[in-house]
Amino acid sequence: MTSDPEPDDRPRRGRFAPSPTGQLHFGSLLAATGSYLQAKANGGEWLLRIEDIDPPREVPGAALAQIETLRIFGMMPDRPIDWQSRFSARHHAALAELLASGQAFYCGCTRRDLPENGIYPGTCRDGIPAGRQARSIRLKTIDQDIGFADAIQGENRQNPAYDCGDFIIRRADGLIAYQLAVVVDDAAAGVSEITRGADLIESTGRQIHVYRCLGLEPPRYAHLPLVVDDDGRKLSKSDADDPVHHQRPQTALRLVLRALGHEPPAGVRSLESIWRWALDHWEIERVPKGPVSIRVHPRQQ
Ligand code: GLU
Repeated sequence: MTSDPEPDDRPRRGRFAPSPTGQLHFGSLLAATGSYLQAKANGGEWLLRIEDIDPPREVPGAALAQIETLRIFGMMPDRPIDWQSRFSARHHAALAELLASGQAFYCGCTRRDLPENGIYPGTCRDGIPAGRQARSIRLKTIDQDIGFADAIQGENRQNPAYDCGDFIIRRADGLIAYQLAVVVDDAAAGVSEITRGADLIESTGRQIHVYRCLGLEPPRYAHLPLVVDDDGRKLSKSDADDPVHHQRPQTALRLVLRALGHEPPAGVRSLESIWRWALDHWEIERVPKGPVSIRVHPRQQ
């Protein structure tokens, strides 16, 4: 197994990086709040990056609505907001570097060419078979465990070669894949710790692999508990889940903090004092692994 050294000497910097696929719901508000507190309560900076590089999934107006919701909740980034679509030059430079070093390759497979388990069998690793056209670009994986100490979920090991095989970094529609863009942009922004929803923990091994292929230092990770509805289903921005902007921010923030294991005392009422309390009391060790359920239609208490 390979693990990276603890990157403790960098300035502490966290971020929230929503895709503009809908309004923020309780799951994304919890990710925003957890990443904000983990950065700010430890004296770091908190950045906001809108991951708008997948136009087919984008909902018009969603990015501005997300930014507005964060503002209403009192979460203001320490630097100007980043729009991922503006960083296409560096995404393509990284792609070119990975191709030039032989770590990435063109692939002519469609989804139908893959086995049922979806794990890429390496078909085009050494060249596209005759009769097929280049479609996507994949990053070669290495058959070894990648270990990381997640501040909430604990020790983790993943082996991308076994879990998914060589994975796509430029899609067949020409768009840069999330796994590449997120690493390039977090590294460029000097993000030293990524606090995000547990639904993304399975991507972490792949992303650490991308960091290593590009000669970059991976950040520390903390994966926050997944928020599920009353039936145990994951909330999703693209479903019709009740957006948090329909709630009073104090009420919604309290519910989120309670789910994060940091319920403020009843007397702490205003938004400002809830934040002050949370910043003073934040200890990532108290955050549950999850999943957690948040009543989506809270009644005023
Ligand atoms: N843009 C991703 C999303 O909204 C999150 C990226 C990340 O936090 O790594 O699900």
